[in-house]
Amino acid sequence: MHDHDYDAHCIFCRIAKGEIPSRKVYEDEELFAFHDIHPGAPVHFLVIPKKHIPSMAQVGAEDAPLLGRMMALAPKLALEQGCNPYPDGGFRIVVNTGSEGGQEVHHLHLHVMGGPRPWLKG
Ligand code: ADP
Repeated sequence: MHDHDYDAHCIFCRIAKGEIPSRKVYEDEELFAFHDIHPGAPVHFLVIPKKHIPSMAQVGAEDAPLLGRMMALAPKLALEQGCNPYPDGGFRIVVNTGSEGGQEVHHLHLHVMGGPRPWLKG
């Protein structure tokens, strides 16, 4: 991570740096995961890159390995956090993008949500 990958005005950059407290689920050099403050499911955590990428709309080809690591990490953490195993258990991964996509925090994040129903409709 280089200094220019950090945005001091971004709440998730600050969470990843430990400047704002969070309930940490996972951390390595490139990634950080923490419980959502307003859970929408029995298990609900966020996986973010430490690098400040505002959304999926700004992802470039050079970010593909990073995104791959986020996607590969999510199922492992989901099980660790109490989601039941596939296929009867499982989880949902959501990436809201832009205002019309329901994105409120403009730092790329995967929502990982799971646990026993009835949190999920349909
Ligand atoms: P939405 O709020 O519509 O889900 P996003 O996809 O941008 O929009 O998600 C931002 C998520 O970040 C929300 O689920 C919100 O509860 C969570 N959040 C905001 N601030 C914090 C925080 N300080 N710690 C943990 N989660 C947070």
